[in-house]
Amino acid sequence: MKLVHVGEAGRERPGVLVGAEDYVDVGDRWSGFGEDFFAHDGLSELAALVPARVASGETRPLAGQRLGAPLARPHQILCIGLNYRDHAVETGQEEPAEPILFTKAPNTIIGPYDDVAIPPGSEKTDWEVELGVVVGSRACYLSSVEEAAASIAGYVLVNDVSERAFQLERGGQWSKGKSCPTFNPCGPWILTRDEVPDPLRLGLWLDVNGVRRQTGTTSDMIFTPAYIVWYLSQFLTLEPGDLINTGTPAGVGMGLSPQVFLADGDVVALGIDGLGEQRQHFRAVSR
Ligand code: ZN
Repeated sequence: MKLVHVGEAGRERPGVLVGAEDYVDVGDRWSGFGEDFFAHDGLSELAALVPARVASGETRPLAGQRLGAPLARPHQILCIGLNYRDHAVETGQEEPAEPILFTKAPNTIIGPYDDVAIPPGSEKTDWEVELGVVVGSRACYLSSVEEAAASIAGYVLVNDVSERAFQLERGGQWSKGKSCPTFNPCGPWILTRDEVPDPLRLGLWLDVNGVRRQTGTTSDMIFTPAYIVWYLSQFLTLEPGDLINTGTPAGVGMGLSPQVFLADGDVVALGIDGLGEQRQHFRAVSR
């Protein structure tokens, strides 16, 4: 299933795509796809509900409607750094022996076509196409990678927008350069795990103003999504509806020579096989 949130910002209703142009609204049953939905096995209920509604003709056209992030604001957004071999090379770093973890503020999530705000004074706002993992059940001290794989609800396209000066030149954690308002475009849909037979065979791409900057494949990942879930569960509790950004392939602005960063009016488009496409206008904002 492809899970979507349809409607104006702050007033989205959950739905499930039916073909490319229609959806079934389930806003009468759930407020959104978040912790409560995943924790109470909403996916199983949805798998029965949607065919019944399609059969009774309850589909609606998607045309002209806004798609928000397909995920309610999570308890936490966790991110893995340097998880693609080619990206580790372009940043001049060793391949990590264990996943590099940093956090991103949960209120950074926006829809896939919403504007992204370049922070006041920013000169190094950068892009990162990533495979997002949506956690489906509570994960704490999992005993195996197989158990971790079963706790994944699905996958979603994410742009892990980053301010490199805030991230790397201002001391402390990377989080400062990752948590600026609007820095986590997400969607257009969550593709449920049953429809992603191999998450390590997905192509990723990202364009800036029509110029291809990132071309990658998840087969270049150092740590797999299931391994990452298992690994993180050894240190913290993952809650249903949490989001994990699993790292970006080569081609970020920081890695180019000369470096390229985003400016007011720039347009970023990105996509992952099966997970749809995003398009954002970047806008410089003042205090
Ligand atoms: Zn990232």
